Amino acid sequence: MDTRKNIALIAHDNRKLDLLDWVRFNQGTLAQHNLYATGTTGGLVEKETGLPVTRFLSGPLGGDQQVGAGIAEGRLDMVFFFWDPLSPQAHDVDVKALLRIAVVHDCPIACNRATADFLLSSPLMAEPYSAIELTDARTESHSG
Ligand code: PGA
Repeated sequence: MDTRKNIALIAHDNRKLDLLDWVRFNQGTLAQHNLYATGTTGGLVEKETGLPVTRFLSGPLGGDQQVGAGIAEGRLDMVFFFWDPLSPQAHDVDVKALLRIAVVHDCPIACNRATADFLLSSPLMAEPYSAIELTDARTESHSG
């Protein structure tokens, strides 16, 4: 990933106010990167900050999967995912798939505010970085 990161933002409904507060606080830093978001989250972030946000579909309608595809295809560098661990989600399987694909591709993914603070304030945010993707050990041992 380059010095200017492609950042995805997602917040479940009960976490949207938290994410907006975090985005407001970090607006100056976030302005140095390219922002993407699931539909409703993206609309709120744009309205709150005036920063340009490329919006995917709403999460329950496929937005989480679009973020996952962006990670798999190398178009997204990191995710700030304020998910709600206290409420059942209709798209729970999509959430799980997104978390899984982020780990597979060594994509930084912050799931709470403290991690988001640590990640965004990392010196690596201003440097290029090469993630190391997981390889399939079974395939490798079979192919020699
Ligand atoms: P939303 O989707 O930004 O469209 O609300 C978030 C989610 O529930 O994954």
